[in-house]
Amino acid sequence: MRSNFRAAFIGSVGLSGFRFRKVPDNIRSTSRQQRQAQRSLPAGDASPLRSIALSRKWLVGLVATAAVAVILLAATERIYRGHLLSDAIHRAETSQAIVALTFDDGPSPLITTKVLEVLDRKSAKATFFMVGKRIENYPEIAASVFENEHEIGNHAYSHQRLILMRPSTIQSEVERTNQLLRGLGVEGAIHFRPPFGVQLFALPFVLKRLQMTTVLHDVVPRDWETQDAELIAKRVLRDTRPGSIILLHDGAANRVIVRALPMIIDGLRNRGFRFVTVGELFALAAGEET
Ligand SMILES: [Zn+2]
Repeated sequence: MRSNFRAAFIGSVGLSGFRFRKVPDNIRSTSRQQRQAQRSLPAGDASPLRSIALSRKWLVGLVATAAVAVILLAATERIYRGHLLSDAIHRAETSQAIVALTFDDGPSPLITTKVLEVLDRKSAKATFFMVGKRIENYPEIAASVFENEHEIGNHAYSHQRLILMRPSTIQSEVERTNQLLRGLGVEGAIHFRPPFGVQLFALPFVLKRLQMTTVLHDVVPRDWETQDAELIAKRVLRDTRPGSIILLHDGAANRVIVRALPMIIDGLRNRGFRFVTVGELFALAAGEET
């Protein structure tokens, strides 16, 4: 049986384009024990025709397994990103050179105040997806974001993965944060961004019930993994196009964004882009359709 396996394997390699001619050499170069085993096999077992039939089976099996694996991986990726089960918005369809800078995970005393200074100095508006608990911890910073006329969105109350939570818990995560935002003075539609970008199962249903739109992003410079401000700015400039929603963070301990932000704003302005909030981006894009 072992020899059968070996013959089939070598045959399949041969079928895929090389080494098939070397099969006899390989068999000849095996040890005496293996040669004896080879001789003791029925004649048909070692025939090239049988090898090819077996190797075709192997090849078909291999290709089918690979295809299934690729399909499963693609589906998992799409589910993971929340594309299949929700109508999350990643960017706006527009021909205008407008983009939305968005900041997740704040407010934080270390970074949000510095980000506000940069935005003020550069006269740019942005959208902050805040964590409810952090609004409670730093109400004065949240208030100053609102007073500076930036948009504030909902990034859940505790920033846990909502994927395995009960619908009632998810609803309370979202509503509790909405109440905190209303307390700051936020009026009109509140946009939602799920923690970790994941939004499966109950979350899309809860958000639909609350008539809230999920806003993701199409430009992700991965500001959490580097201290290189120029690299972050370079990634943003490389990927941004009209209608883009850019994901940045003002809540983590990484202060690199304070250095990267002026480069991002200047770089995009030089290319003619204008900075609007997420709400303005959607309204301007919708205005084009009519
Ligand atoms: Zn987050």
